[in-house]
Amino acid sequence: MSDVVLELKDIAKTYNAGKPSEVAVLRGVDLSVGKGEVVALVAPSGAGKSTLLHIAGLLDTPDAGTVELGGQNLSGQSDRRRTLARRADVGFIYQFHHLLPEFSALENIVLPQLSNGTSKSAASERAMMLLDKVGVGARADHRPAELSGGEQQRVAFCRALANAPRLLLADEPTGNLDPATSDQVFDALMGLVRDTGLSALIATHNLELAARMDRTLQLDSGRLV
Ligand code: ADP
Repeated sequence: MSDVVLELKDIAKTYNAGKPSEVAVLRGVDLSVGKGEVVALVAPSGAGKSTLLHIAGLLDTPDAGTVELGGQNLSGQSDRRRTLARRADVGFIYQFHHLLPEFSALENIVLPQLSNGTSKSAASERAMMLLDKVGVGARADHRPAELSGGEQQRVAFCRALANAPRLLLADEPTGNLDPATSDQVFDALMGLVRDTGLSALIATHNLELAARMDRTLQLDSGRLV
């Protein structure tokens, strides 16, 4: 099996092509993330980080270039194949937690596993194991509104890993938190990623956080430098 989990080749993306509002966001991006590797994607706001993560996670399609996950070229595949690959292989984390408000922390991690065909007992066991790893096991029965911002985000990390993806894509995962909380929550995320041997591409504009990852890529004028 290939040791490259994510491979992007010559990715280009322009919004509003041909209009006065045209923005060429990505102009030939090549990127690869190896097994167990954690890569920081650093760029100022508006540089195209979210666009790149959405393309890598098969939520958006590039105008040109190819996206390979686990050695499988998914460019030009049907929406159904891409959706299946995304569900099986990719976990997403955003700046905001997007947890379901009417369900407990545990249930938020159990539900995606049930949709994936896992039994309720196995799903609960995995959810509890993940919550314990990030230090919020004692809050398993709390709803999101009863959790602090840092705890909500820790639960969101567990949900992203619920179905054991091979790639984690995170867009400013601690961007909503105050600096001290952000530091601790980022440590929890790194611990979880390292423990599970996951590969990750994490967008941030925080250079201190980037320095704690294996490698930093900077997005500048639509290219990685
Ligand atoms: P970042 O995540 O680095 O802040 P984005 O990928 O969100 O950057 O956006 C990059 C640029 O593309 C911005 O100038 C943004 O306004 C523009 N953009 C993003 N999405 C769209 C869209 N759907 N239509 C038009 N322009 C867009």
